[in-house]
Amino acid sequence: MAEIGTVGVIGAGQMGNGIAHVAALAGLDVVLVDVKAEAVEKAVATIGKNLDRQVSKGGIDAAAKDAAMARIKGGTEMSALSAADIVIEAATEREELKLAIFKQVVPLLKPEAILASNTSSISITRLAAVTDRPHRFIGMHFMNPVPVMKLVEIIRGIATDDATYEAVKALAEKMGKVTAVAQDYPAFIVNRILIPMINEAVQTLQEGVGDVASIDAAMKLGTGQPMGPLQLADFIGLDTCLAIMRVLHEGMGDSKYRPSPLLVKHVEAGWLGKKTGRGFYDYSQDPPRPTR
Ligand code: NAD
Repeated sequence: MAEIGTVGVIGAGQMGNGIAHVAALAGLDVVLVDVKAEAVEKAVATIGKNLDRQVSKGGIDAAAKDAAMARIKGGTEMSALSAADIVIEAATEREELKLAIFKQVVPLLKPEAILASNTSSISITRLAAVTDRPHRFIGMHFMNPVPVMKLVEIIRGIATDDATYEAVKALAEKMGKVTAVAQDYPAFIVNRILIPMINEAVQTLQEGVGDVASIDAAMKLGTGQPMGPLQLADFIGLDTCLAIMRVLHEGMGDSKYRPSPLLVKHVEAGWLGKKTGRGFYDYSQDPPRPTR
């Protein structure tokens, strides 16, 4: 398989900007596409700010920042993806949306281009099935924030071939990441284990076993996690946590994965965590104040 020189990224949200950032810093040309021009502008500005922070901390020099920024081309035209050797989709976590995106981009791509999805939980095999290249389709699950977190979880769909897996593993390593490989079952490895733990923390809160501060302190100090599960849920986004729980519940058909009613209620209220200013903590206060 030819070496990957140009990376296309679909979706310029919090994950898309991080993926574009690490790809450009690794010396790859990047084409970043979103339906919203504002999202692309915001992503490019965020990448600039995050690279500046790396320069001020001494991780990279100013010339590396400038070179990385020069490698990124952003826009709203999907046709720009025709230059890509791999396209990594990082759009909103909705299956119908991702299926529509893959159907739309396939005719625009080089025949040998690899397709990857950064989905947190949706079946790679199902996404691959709407393309003309299920053997060249793979899950490339980056962690948030992408420039900081070391792991890329690689998910092999049932049809993914070895050459695609090897090329994507090498690409992740070029981006400075360590990989773990998962087979294509609901929510893969990281979120299969993490999200039910978060859901259980919410259920523990709902039952009044502990309040927000006690649950987070217990898990942080008692199990050595850098962040308590409720704070982490706010950081991930409660809507994302609920969507993943629903994928697990439906995909495994096991009642042990039922979403906590309190998690559902928070999402219905629009209390989605840090991004909306309120989740299990109230972010209008400094430091954020537990809400229960
Ligand atoms: P986000 O809401 O920050 O960004 C999503 C972006 O997709 C938005 O800019 C939106 O305009 C764009 N978009 C929507 N429809 C589009 C289309 N048709 N074409 C192009 N762009 C489109 O979301 P995010 O947190 O960056 O998540 C993106 C993906 O990454 C999801 O699949 C999510 O599950 C996954 N993920 C998220 C995290 C996390 O912690 N947030 C971690 C790992 C993986």
